[in-house]
Amino acid sequence: MTGPRAPRGRPVTFDTHQREKYLTALTDGATLTQAAAAVGITARWAAKTAATDPGFAAARTTARAAGKRVRAERMPHDETRYIKLGCRCPICTKAATANRGARRNRTTHHTSPHTDPEPAKVTTMPNPTAPPAPSLLLARAS
Ligand SMILES: [Zn+2]
Repeated sequence: MTGPRAPRGRPVTFDTHQREKYLTALTDGATLTQAAAAVGITARWAAKTAATDPGFAAARTTARAAGKRVRAERMPHDETRYIKLGCRCPICTKAATANRGARRNRTTHHTSPHTDPEPAKVTTMPNPTAPPAPSLLLARAS
């Protein structure tokens, strides 16, 4: 801190009118950064103000909660919504299941080939009652 002097450039103010605009932006779903930018201040400045002004801090908390709901409602139904919001509607569940399966297959092939189930080998053996082929036993033992 170098004193009460404002930084160069645009004077930093965060008056009542700006605070209302800031809180409205937050309530409408703007992020902390976006809401601050909307009134020409930094997110850090808004946080600082909240730290020293309990009334503003409370209003900011309420606005953020409302904004979070607004953003959630705008979020399309897909895997992200499934993960972030816990949406278990058929669309989100299907998207999450499909993507998870795709990821699992990729991961399995690259990092852990030994856990790859290979039931096809069993069906190609001439005698179903015969013990498993030596190669399969070796695979299991490794
Ligand atoms: Zn959903």
